[in-house]
Amino acid sequence: MCGIFGIHAPERDVARLSYFGLFALQHRGQESAGIAVADSGRLTVLRDMGLVTQVFSEQKLRGLRGQVAIGHSRYSTTGSTHWANAQPIVQHGSARTVALGHNGNLTNTGELREELLDDGVRLRSTSDTEVIAALIARDGRPLEEAAAATMEKIEGAFSAVLLSEGKLIGFRDPNGIRPLALGRLDDDWLLASETCAFDLLGAEAVRELQPGELVIIDDDGCRSVQAVEPANGGALCIFEFIYFARPDSKLRGVELHGARVRMGERLAAEAPAEADSVMAVPDSGTPAAIGFARASGIPFAEGLIKNRYVGRTFIQPDQALREHGIKSKFNPLADVAGKRVVVVDDSIVRGSTTRQIVAMLFEAGALEVHVRVSSPPIVSPCFYGIDMADEDDLVAASRSVEEVRELLGATSLAYLSLEGLQEATERPESSFCRACLTRSYPTGIPDDLKLAKLRFEAARA
Ligand code: SF4
Repeated sequence: MCGIFGIHAPERDVARLSYFGLFALQHRGQESAGIAVADSGRLTVLRDMGLVTQVFSEQKLRGLRGQVAIGHSRYSTTGSTHWANAQPIVQHGSARTVALGHNGNLTNTGELREELLDDGVRLRSTSDTEVIAALIARDGRPLEEAAAATMEKIEGAFSAVLLSEGKLIGFRDPNGIRPLALGRLDDDWLLASETCAFDLLGAEAVRELQPGELVIIDDDGCRSVQAVEPANGGALCIFEFIYFARPDSKLRGVELHGARVRMGERLAAEAPAEADSVMAVPDSGTPAAIGFARASGIPFAEGLIKNRYVGRTFIQPDQALREHGIKSKFNPLADVAGKRVVVVDDSIVRGSTTRQIVAMLFEAGALEVHVRVSSPPIVSPCFYGIDMADEDDLVAASRSVEEVRELLGATSLAYLSLEGLQEATERPESSFCRACLTRSYPTGIPDDLKLAKLRFEAARA
């Protein structure tokens, strides 16, 4: 995940608009936030750990003046949560200075890092974003050509916003794994991970960038180049449809809330349950639960109340509190007592949260707990920027549905079929990455990366 944003608007307060853009994209990453502005070509960046509202104050925003800006909100694994990895990053190279914000994950970082280090380039962090920035900063060709040449070299998932020489550039990998959209605010141009950022700013969503496309926005307007040949129909991450993107965003012209309701409707048809009420694991399971209730005729009811203020920065509770575990996040309503309930969630990764929710509902007096999941079982890890655990941590990777049900302690368990999911998106199968559900990856995965994440497979072989 990660949210990226860019704006070229010489007559506006670009830092403030970036702040609001990032605020709309906060769900894509809560660990750090940053904004870089260019004022007559001079770059200033402010980035720090925390939420957008924690990093920026009125005073700090006032200090960020310029005509062009990019912003980033970051999500990362715990191990790499530190300031040096916060974005946008600024890289000084032999050809230029660039600021870059990246969403995705490169699969050939190791090889490119070695190449850069061998050439005497100094790298400060372990992030793949720095590698992209370093390649562009040292390339002596004109900026657009340098960016296009870098797109040819890097592999994996990348949607990026780049600021250099007073220009805003956006580009997307040839599979288009992570989203990136172009927007317009009167005569000014914007880029954002999701269209919900344009809505907040009163801007119009013009279109999504095509896989392999690069756009250049400067005082002459917006130009587009097909920098890299797109791969087949593209491979947008299907989890953007299931869970990652905000329900009020549109991807491929489809509003995601509607797609998620259809997933729930289809799930009810594929895996009905005899129950008194349907509830969601809030908030991400809510649209599918609404769809399930609608299609099954079983009333939708709130059963789990979520504390929306539990973030990654949550102070670790002491031992006694920790034993309540999941209660810091969810608490059941007394209303579930004596009822047979259907609980709808969008996905199950490790299974520990679902197991605790099931136990909590039984403790609250539920008679039966039927778990319904609006995606197929996750059986393989993601190499494209989602911290989904190694294969041996994925509860469904080596277990049958019945074995998972037993582990969760649920009365029944059913997942949405792959066909059902696909139909709910109303877009063709060929245009999606579904690798964590099918084990079929849209790009090559180097052996060292595979070995690190596919320990389960390695142990079985
Ligand atoms: S492997 Fe799964 S989570 Fe990763 S990009 Fe593909 S569909 Fe998305």
